[in-house]
Amino acid sequence: MAEKIVAVKGMNDILPGSVPRKEKLPDSALWRWFERTVDRVMAQHGYQALLTPIVEPTPLFVRSIGAATDIVEKEMYSWTDTMNGDALTLRPEMTAGIVRSMIEHNALYNGPLRVWSIGPVFRHERPQKGRYRQFHQLDVEALGLPGPDVDAELILMVRRLWAALGLVVGKHVRLELNSLGQPAERAAHRAALVAYFEHHAEQLDEDARRRLHTNPLRILDSKNPAMQALVEAAPKLSEHLGAESRAHLDAVCRVLDAAGLPYRLNPRLVRGLDYYNLTVFEWVTDHLGAQGTVCGGGRYDGLFEQLGGRPTPAIGFGLGIERLLLLLQELGLPVPDAAPSAYAVIGEGVDLPRVLVALDALRAAGVSVQMNAGGGSMKAQFKRADASGARHALIFGAEELAQGLVGVKPLRDAAAMQTRERLDEVAHWAARLLDA
Ligand code: ATP
Ligand code: MG
Repeated sequence: MAEKIVAVKGMNDILPGSVPRKEKLPDSALWRWFERTVDRVMAQHGYQALLTPIVEPTPLFVRSIGAATDIVEKEMYSWTDTMNGDALTLRPEMTAGIVRSMIEHNALYNGPLRVWSIGPVFRHERPQKGRYRQFHQLDVEALGLPGPDVDAELILMVRRLWAALGLVVGKHVRLELNSLGQPAERAAHRAALVAYFEHHAEQLDEDARRRLHTNPLRILDSKNPAMQALVEAAPKLSEHLGAESRAHLDAVCRVLDAAGLPYRLNPRLVRGLDYYNLTVFEWVTDHLGAQGTVCGGGRYDGLFEQLGGRPTPAIGFGLGIERLLLLLQELGLPVPDAAPSAYAVIGEGVDLPRVLVALDALRAAGVSVQMNAGGGSMKAQFKRADASGARHALIFGAEELAQGLVGVKPLRDAAAMQTRERLDEVAHWAARLLDA
């Protein structure tokens, strides 16, 4: 036998739930249910779907995310196109591509736009539970709107999504909020930070020393326990916020208060990407260990200009789908089952075209039916019917079929009786299979 080829490390298959696997990962039914739920919640809020390429020019990410960030420094999958020498990258996040697309198509010509997208993103990180090299994001962006109204709406929309998925705020997920102010305020804070860290240079680890002059804000994000006290006492951006930035944050908070959504103002919430200003937020959980951030986002009013577009206020967030679905699994929250309504058991020597035409009629009537393909004894077929999760077996025996009949056997309700139904009157009894 030829040698097996396996998937790239940190890149996973999303499999049907019936396939056993070693690693704990969401199955495809859970995945599709999540996508359907997203579809509904986005439509409820007036957001439209948008799809952009997975490959983009490398400079797009260097210019938007920032050269001194973890992503650009070490996490991007980049290469040179052999045909023309273009520098290309697998997208490590979605916002940059979406903004690029909006500028390219002058998409905001007729006014603001609210869009969402779901798809894979790629980061060359050390794979572990909740951290992969290919993962998927739901990305949502409100473009051309300065807020603070839309900032608050966006955050409440995430709560709506949590509710639709069965997640309870406070119990399963919680909201952290901060304001990053405006560039001038950040510059003043940055100067104060650099001065503070320079003053305590002997306490900085290697990473922090390297970042001191490239990206001192990222030092605040340090996970090194030895630096926590130093980071804790560092100058806070909130001390440098002007009246307008404060008012923006207050306005967001007032909506959240009125909506009864609890949050924690976290002055150390800075986010890993460079382009944010004003409102930033994260939704975190305590049920996933170290990989606790399921959703993060914020305002990025300067990005359109930075990428060659007209000044355009914007806000958005990215949600890690694998992490979120892992959380649902971890909590054992009930999710709708993906089983077919019925499983068709097919006797030996039956008139096969007639069976398939009958199944087609049932599906036209809205019944989902899994057909037993490939034959097998009645016993084996009933075993498969059971494993499929279907609530009914449809029994196509040669004798019944000759009379235009099909047997309907309830599989999950021991008290219910088996019946025989007429195949030329599917509409009369199909409904029973739907809601039983
Ligand atoms: P982290 O601090 O965990 O590295 P991040 O700040 O890099 O997260 P973002 O760039 O904000 O993450 O991406 C949005 C979301 O995507 C995160 O909140 C998280 O749920 C998810 N995510 C980020 N990196 C990964 C990864 N390597 N594997 C799986 N999900 C991820
Ligand atoms: Mg990261």
